[in-house]
Amino acid sequence: MRILVTGGAGFIGSEFVRATLRGTLPGSSGTQVTVLDKLTYSGNVLNLAPIADLRNYRFVQGDICDQDLVDDVVAGHDAIVHFAAETHVDRSIGSAASFVRTNAMGTQVLLEAASRHRLGRFVHISTDEVYGSIPEGAWDEESPVAPNAPYAAAKAAGDLLALAWHRTHGLDVVVTRCTNNYGPYQYPEKLIPLFTTNVMDGQQVPVYGEGHNRRQWLHVSDHCRAIQLVLLGGRAGEVYHIGGGTELTNLELAEQILKSCGAGWDMVRHVPDRPGHDFRYSLDTTKIRTELGFSPRVAFADGLVETVEWYRDNRAWWEPLKSPDEATGSPGDAGRTA
Ligand code: NAD
Repeated sequence: MRILVTGGAGFIGSEFVRATLRGTLPGSSGTQVTVLDKLTYSGNVLNLAPIADLRNYRFVQGDICDQDLVDDVVAGHDAIVHFAAETHVDRSIGSAASFVRTNAMGTQVLLEAASRHRLGRFVHISTDEVYGSIPEGAWDEESPVAPNAPYAAAKAAGDLLALAWHRTHGLDVVVTRCTNNYGPYQYPEKLIPLFTTNVMDGQQVPVYGEGHNRRQWLHVSDHCRAIQLVLLGGRAGEVYHIGGGTELTNLELAEQILKSCGAGWDMVRHVPDRPGHDFRYSLDTTKIRTELGFSPRVAFADGLVETVEWYRDNRAWWEPLKSPDEATGSPGDAGRTA
């Protein structure tokens, strides 16, 4: 199979590309991968260095909103796995234009090209945030989208366009919506790497409000295995939830990170809450478990320790990426990673 991976130089996309090319995802051996990535601040070619010399890998630097380029690059592929997005909620509160442009318009450009070149499959990677906030219980795939943050609204627009392309143009589209991810190579503006690298630098970690907001956490390798199952076996026109990890309040998470780093509560600093901060996300993952046999493999406690160790061992990767604003938590993201 020849797949085009958009946003393949980012956190999750690069994990998917590395795992695909190493043949560690089910049914991935022999796959040819093209990465299309604009290399925004969160894209990093170093994330792809471990597989950069492989013959079945090609990198194209470019914008998914560039219609001519996308048309050229899409030709000759069997499938698209679409990760490319603006992903940081706090940045979307500051300025939403690039979020609407990439997450909605960029998705439309890719869908058009996929239809034109009659691709066999389009996997659109999305997030639990499109549903808004849920005080208790969990959303299933039929729940209506009701996004609150501009990031989530722009992602929801992309999801709806993708599903519309299936219904209107018969494109073989599948949408995945995942909970918060964690693992190596995550840009240090996001919660777990922000807290971890702050503590490593002897700086406090900024927790929004009281820190009672709740999120579910899934290791990035589990997310990518689930995406592969959807790529190979998901039903066209369907949405699949990906999750089944661990639910924690931000305070509980901070406590586990501090413990992994050997630091105490004096390292926590409460900062004013984010405007419109969703209290809780929760996904019902029955569908992907029963239809595609997915369940997470990485226990959160083990994955967190490994992730902290990765940041300890890879200071040269993250140090140049950290701005003083991020370290001090202005804005910082203690509520969301995606
Ligand atoms: P990321 O910010 O680490 O990576 C995004 C990548 O997209 C970067 O490499 C960037 O250069 C690229 N990109 C941005 N705009 C582009 C454009 N116009 N053209 C081409 N490339 C562009 O993000 P991530 O955390 O890896 O998230 C990947 C996807 O997974 C996103 O669609 C996100 O909504 C979704 N998601 C993330 C999480 C999470 O916890 N991180 C959870 C659920 C879903």
